[in-house]
Amino acid sequence: MSAPPLFPLFTNLAGRAVVVVGGGAVARRKVASLIPTGARVRVGAPLLEPQLAEWAAEGRIEALPGEFDPGWLDGAWLVIAATDDVAVNRAVASAAESRRVWANVADDAELSGVHLPARVERGPVQIAISSGGGVPMLARHLREQLEGQFDESLGSLAELLAQARERIRSRLPDLASRRRFFDRVLKGAIPALLRRGDHVAAERELAAALEHPRSSPNGTVALVGAGPGDPGLLTLRALRVLNEADVVLHDRLVSAEVLALARRDAEFIEVGKQVGGDHHATQDRIHHLLVGHARQGKRVVRLKGGDPFIFGRGGEELEVLRAHGIDFEVVPGITAAIACGAYAGIPLTHREYAQSARFITAHTKEGDDGIDWAALAQEKQTLAFYMGVSGLERIRERLTAHGRSPSTPFAIIENGTRPEQRVVLGTLADLPELARFHQVGAPALLVIGEVAALAGNLHWFGSKPLTAASAGFDANLRDHTCSDPVGADFARAA
Ligand code: SAH
Repeated sequence: MSAPPLFPLFTNLAGRAVVVVGGGAVARRKVASLIPTGARVRVGAPLLEPQLAEWAAEGRIEALPGEFDPGWLDGAWLVIAATDDVAVNRAVASAAESRRVWANVADDAELSGVHLPARVERGPVQIAISSGGGVPMLARHLREQLEGQFDESLGSLAELLAQARERIRSRLPDLASRRRFFDRVLKGAIPALLRRGDHVAAERELAAALEHPRSSPNGTVALVGAGPGDPGLLTLRALRVLNEADVVLHDRLVSAEVLALARRDAEFIEVGKQVGGDHHATQDRIHHLLVGHARQGKRVVRLKGGDPFIFGRGGEELEVLRAHGIDFEVVPGITAAIACGAYAGIPLTHREYAQSARFITAHTKEGDDGIDWAALAQEKQTLAFYMGVSGLERIRERLTAHGRSPSTPFAIIENGTRPEQRVVLGTLADLPELARFHQVGAPALLVIGEVAALAGNLHWFGSKPLTAASAGFDANLRDHTCSDPVGADFARAA
């Protein structure tokens, strides 16, 4: 038969006597969490560990020297037994029981009249977790998850709303309208303003909401980097923002696993650019959707692959939002070059081989591509090409024409960080042919520079790197001038 459920309570211990029995590390941890409550803490033990002794000397706690004496519990509201002696713990529990003092015995659910929960603290907000005493590890595990979900701004939010409590009550005397008001405030711009530490703007927003409680709230937009695909590479903040989203406008590049982490009942809209589609029309539609949804008071997440500011047109979207007076925040993401470097075992700036790394898009108009190839061809730097749309032939031709050695290593990372990741290694001389030979598809990132070869030794994720030797690649293919499927795939990814 399972035990009846526990009844949770939050206790006000200020000025009340609490006895901790035990003078070791466990006792110290309990005392440390009691001191901030303002409890009058008495610690009973033959000997106190140094921190407890110091607190006693400072008068922050009172020491009860000697062996446990039931008389210690006189006048106490709560006792915590934290000794490593089962007999003493038992004696404490039974003395407490007969005096009707609540007792907690560390690591002994059965002897404990009260349990101390695992806690998440954010200012005045506390989330307490109990597994009923049976599986404290589970409670701790849940706490870790909750720690990730709520940041410090939750405390500021509680404080701000607590300060405004009287104003809110007098302005909105009936419960239903107060509920609607809180719903609106909690879904509106205020949490985002507090997340970025702008307390003044948050107060202003709250005052405006109180002034016009029935006007529709301001929505916000979070421009969020979704990283390269592996959902584990999202930032905590991205996860929090996704948890609160009403609408998610996402690119095609964003993986299904990442989308699965957003709030279930959010509306998902794919706004990826299509092959041969009109980029202008697509971008206009994105701007229209962003502004439209935010105007309806929604929490909009604009989710982009990698980092939103690296070849992501995130800047243009923010300019439109600013022009419309819509509030936004930006959550960075791990960009493809960083992620693919890590997951392929390529330290982009290994000190022996490279002093800088460049992020380059070859996705420019035909003819004059505006790229300073002479600068790119210089030694001791790593080149990370996104969207090699104008083709690998051209990259090889320009770099070698400007003096970069044909023996310079390259790596192509296809589907970086995803389970199907593939890495192709070779030298500049064989770049397009080897990519074609291995039928590299989108999305893929091209890394050129000495560091690329390190993947041969440092790879750790997914299948082993593919090389010219690994599958009978014939270097004589080199001079064939056929179409460039990788370039085409890069174009599709864009
Ligand atoms: N904002 C994105 C880049 C958008 S451009 C970022 O910061 O990563 C799209 C290009 O990024 C693709 O053509 C490809 O070159 C690269 N890319 C994005 N995700 C990738 C992945 N998982 N593996 C390899 N390359 C990727």
